[in-house]
Amino acid sequence: MAKHVPERMCSCCRNTFSKNELIRVVKSGDNFSVDRTHKAPGRGAYVCKNPECLKKLVKTRALNRSFKTVVPDEIYEEVLLEAKNGE
Ligand SMILES: [Zn+2]
Repeated sequence: MAKHVPERMCSCCRNTFSKNELIRVVKSGDNFSVDRTHKAPGRGAYVCKNPECLKKLVKTRALNRSFKTVVPDEIYEEVLLEAKNGE
């Protein structure tokens, strides 16, 4: 039997992916960070690594919607960087 990989939804395109295909952004207090361990405490949002989706993410500030607050530009940049590194 195949091992079950938990699926999460991309905050931007709303498609579901297995966790290892997603970038996790976590909000802890007032601080945001890109959680490379997928284990950091706090409220998380997931973003897929699809280039089209990432463009849309930055354009529409989709993370702001997920967290219902303004996510700093640096975090968007970090997500883009992380997506690139993961290729
Ligand atoms: Zn997506």
